[in-house]
Amino acid sequence: MPDLAHDSPKPKVIPGAKSDWELVIGLEVHAQVASNAKLFSGASTLFGAEPNSNVAFVDAAMPGMLPVINEFCVAQAVRTGLGLKAQINLTSAFDRKNYFYPDLPQGYQISQLYHPIVGEGEVIVDMGPGIARRVRIERIHLEQDAGKSIHDLDPTMSFVDLNRTGVALMEIVSRPDIRGPEEAAAYVAKLRQIMRYLGTCDGNMQNGNLRADVNVSVCRPGDYERYQATGDHSVLGTRCEIKNMNSLRFIQQAIDYEARRQIAILEDGGRIEQETRLYDPDKGETRSMRSKEEAHDYRYFPCPDLLPLEIEQAWVDDIAASMPELPDAKKARFVEGYGVTEYDAGVLTAEAENAAFFEEAAKGRDGKQAANWVINELFGRLNKEGKTIGETPVSARQLGGVLDLLASGEITGKMAKDLFEILWTEGGDPAEVAAARGMKQVTDTAAIEKALDDLIAANPEQVEKAKVNAKLAGWFTGQVLKATGGKANPAVVNQMVAQKLGL
Ligand code: ADP
Ligand code: MG
Repeated sequence: MPDLAHDSPKPKVIPGAKSDWELVIGLEVHAQVASNAKLFSGASTLFGAEPNSNVAFVDAAMPGMLPVINEFCVAQAVRTGLGLKAQINLTSAFDRKNYFYPDLPQGYQISQLYHPIVGEGEVIVDMGPGIARRVRIERIHLEQDAGKSIHDLDPTMSFVDLNRTGVALMEIVSRPDIRGPEEAAAYVAKLRQIMRYLGTCDGNMQNGNLRADVNVSVCRPGDYERYQATGDHSVLGTRCEIKNMNSLRFIQQAIDYEARRQIAILEDGGRIEQETRLYDPDKGETRSMRSKEEAHDYRYFPCPDLLPLEIEQAWVDDIAASMPELPDAKKARFVEGYGVTEYDAGVLTAEAENAAFFEEAAKGRDGKQAANWVINELFGRLNKEGKTIGETPVSARQLGGVLDLLASGEITGKMAKDLFEILWTEGGDPAEVAAARGMKQVTDTAAIEKALDDLIAANPEQVEKAKVNAKLAGWFTGQVLKATGGKANPAVVNQMVAQKLGL
């Protein structure tokens, strides 16, 4: 299988008034574990349920209630770690992160500060054919989500919904290896894609399934290379953290704004204060939320209600054995096995279901032609009608049937499109529909020749004109196609016209 060779993209350079600047970005992505039950209780995680209907006693922090770890959630974190080629820690532990908020009835969040379940890994972020950024993963830890405070339902009161309280999150922490807004968005998209392949997170950003805290700093050209060579963070600029972003577009806008804000301060001789900021999409700006808090502000300590989490290598191996083919491998295989371009392979493998559809339609056929049909006709049509691949009226088998009729020369490209249209709206077996509708390319050269001979005999002056100006021979081709009801192969007709007129 080919390793798609990649060059690193150049970092985004932002010209300031006094010098050039570069961006340095690190992301902390909170991915909701795809699990029906919460991390430490059996309560449902169903989105959109009646407020406060999915709350176990432990989620509501009733006195004396104890958390019980959900093995399935642990397995999902391990699976995600394996998908990011990361180290799996057989021993990890839970800590209490203490803070008060009305939607956090325990008064602390159970998280994993000191001993996360997953250690170092990496993600390859595609930035165009042949260009990719390698982003190192520092760690993934498991933690509980908080509930939801609702401030805009009543002028005098706030409401609290504890349905989300205790839902399992994987916090995926990157190294500061991301060098521009587009890369940040592409990184989140790639994580989402990998987790959707793995089935460990639905990645529904609108529902808050996937949210990112975006750390942004700026530095002078050369500083980042020095950090890479030495591992010394202090050569980088001071960062600000933009909290809780759940839109790829807003992530990019917020980074752009933040870069300009920081550069303006620095060029003015000021200093960046490390702080937490919020992005306001209506105003297109970030605002200070609070100054940076340190680990000790949270009085972290090992959670006394939970034993250290010990997992066995054999269990990890079982999970590893059940891993699906991941996007990078699938993409490389499509390029090699079906001869499609890297770009097309990227489109075809965006979602596992799309890739499976393509493979079923392409197997044993011309891969490039199958890719064109799947991307242009099928995906194009699905997009236009706002349908997902699961809702396609034309199955992979049906599309394969159309491709077979095309490949054998039984129908023309134009007929194939008409046939696809009929299958889309009315369904049916491609070969039967084509036969019933009289869609059959005339490959019988005798029939074509007869039509052409008649034309030539009836139009001597057109023949003379075409002999002087070869472009006018197209008239004959058009007439023959017309006479055969569009069923003749244009290339065959063209060739015959040229031959008969001696062109
Ligand atoms: P802390 O322990 O203070 O939370 P971390 O080292 O864990 O800091 O980093 C948190 C996030 O901030 C990580 O995703 C990391 O990549 C990112 N980060 C660290 N330093 C910088 C920097 N100078 N610029 C941008 N992002 C950074
Ligand atoms: Mg940190």
